[in-house]
Amino acid sequence: MSFRPDQSPASEILLPNRPVRSSIVAITDKIYIKNHRQLVSQLERSFPKSAFAGATLDVLFNGESLANLDDATQDRVLDFAEDFMDCDCESAPHCGHPEEKFVSYLLELRAAGLGPDAIVDVMGDDYMLYAYPGDVLSFLDNSVRTLEAIESLADVDGEREIAKQAQNRREQLL
Ligand SMILES: [Zn+2]
Repeated sequence: MSFRPDQSPASEILLPNRPVRSSIVAITDKIYIKNHRQLVSQLERSFPKSAFAGATLDVLFNGESLANLDDATQDRVLDFAEDFMDCDCESAPHCGHPEEKFVSYLLELRAAGLGPDAIVDVMGDDYMLYAYPGDVLSFLDNSVRTLEAIESLADVDGEREIAKQAQNRREQLL
């Protein structure tokens, strides 16, 4: 079962709002590499366990590193790179887009009806990543509260269309 992201992130209404975005993107600090010890030994290089740490992204996503990984791991790392690190920014992979795309991926899984435990299972299958279900749950709760706030603000401002969009997004996450 795979839920690799498509091009229509459920989070697009969440992300343009910078202060909100920074609190939500913090979930990406809590995404870890499942087989970290194995990777360190295959690459003969140490790097943080956190998947989105700058040093991890640097080590994992150069061709020389990849060649030293076993096939199964290489496939997952390539999928991750393809799905989350495909932008052309000069500062990539440190441009914030990989984190944004990962947040979209989590919201897609939720919109598909998965709970925190199932989301953690799927990210393990898709990319050999894990998180604590409690952290995923807080992230989803925060996302719903954020959408509620957007909805109320838009209502007050008479922005019917935005309020409606926020409401639809929120309902997808419940
Ligand atoms: Zn970018």
